[in-house]
Amino acid sequence: MLTNLNINPQRLWDSLMETAKFGGTAKGGIKRLTLSDEDKKVRDWFKAQCEALGCTVSVDEVGNMFAVRPGRNNDLPPIAMGSHLDTQPTGGKFDGVLGVLGALEAMRTLHEQGYETNAPVEIINWTNEEGSRFAPAMLASGVFAGVFTPDYAYERLDRDGISFKDELERIGYRGTEKAGAHKFQAMFELHIEQGPILEDEKTMIGVVTGVQGMRWYEVTVTGQDAHTGATPMYLRKNALLGAARIIEAIDAIGQKHQPGVATVGLIENKPNSRNVVPGEVFFTVDLRHPDEEVLEVMEREFRAALEAALPPMKLAYEEKRIWISPAVKFAPELIECVEHGADKAGFAMRRMVSGAGHDAAYIARVAPTTMIFVPCEGGLSHNEAESTSFDECAAGAQVLLNAVIEHDRRLAG
Ligand SMILES: [Zn+2]
Repeated sequence: MLTNLNINPQRLWDSLMETAKFGGTAKGGIKRLTLSDEDKKVRDWFKAQCEALGCTVSVDEVGNMFAVRPGRNNDLPPIAMGSHLDTQPTGGKFDGVLGVLGALEAMRTLHEQGYETNAPVEIINWTNEEGSRFAPAMLASGVFAGVFTPDYAYERLDRDGISFKDELERIGYRGTEKAGAHKFQAMFELHIEQGPILEDEKTMIGVVTGVQGMRWYEVTVTGQDAHTGATPMYLRKNALLGAARIIEAIDAIGQKHQPGVATVGLIENKPNSRNVVPGEVFFTVDLRHPDEEVLEVMEREFRAALEAALPPMKLAYEEKRIWISPAVKFAPELIECVEHGADKAGFAMRRMVSGAGHDAAYIARVAPTTMIFVPCEGGLSHNEAESTSFDECAAGAQVLLNAVIEHDRRLAG
């Protein structure tokens, strides 16, 4: 059995450049908002390319597209490769798109070589990963995974008050299949890293073991507005100074629990006047870590820091956790297949955790899932200047194909 299947890097690159015209911007990026005319064009193109390979393309009730190539045993659920074709308003050419077109290149290679897999293999295009036109992000993979209801998705409105449902129907991608009804046994998502680690370490492949957990908080510190000239230092209740001490403490928590990260990114100082001791400060806290238990510790340390710093300064405070996204651990057997695939292709690799959310994070709740990262220049993404090289795109698609074949090979026992 032939197992050394080589993808065609030029064909992959040409497809990336060809589809970049659907919503192409003057600065070399893509503006392809979910369910826009450009989204319809790229979907139609994708469907036609898959059908030309003998795939059957189906669409579910929230517009997720599934292109299935039969295998030897079609009673087995397909092995999926999926990502997204929508972009940010000033998006790049690779975020999401590489995952779908890399999968298409893998599929074209199987087809061209006449390689018969044990299980069917499929490509998935998840609707509205970006969430920039219809918030929240990862909407349709979330519906697929049971995180949101289809009606919740349908009711999302863009800034012009147009609904997700109306746009889905308008472009002809409201399918009949129930979201989540379509079964697959594994999903591999190829994606650009959107961070600086792979480039910094000159490593081609990121073997993604999970997505870090995330917790958001809001804090209001209350002291007393007072005259900066007439109020002696020892009688002040300076809320901004209290907040400053907490900002230092938050940074220290991040430093201590690396690869965890801890950030205060938004602050409002009141009354924000040069000759008033600040009486009230509002700020946000963002804590992230791959391990829920460590995240728990970070949260405790943050709360302890509030208690230790503020009351002795005669400051009151209110703290509220407003959002939580649990850490995701990807499937060990799929991670092994990716490592096998990268090794076979001869690429340097490292294990890593995704700092950003992806469709794979929701899909991991309902099926074994993992991700493959390739570098992007300067770690830059959600930007028209986003850049992943010809060789990096090719490497990602090759490892994706190798991982799928390895997973399929293991099915045969
Ligand atoms: Zn993406």
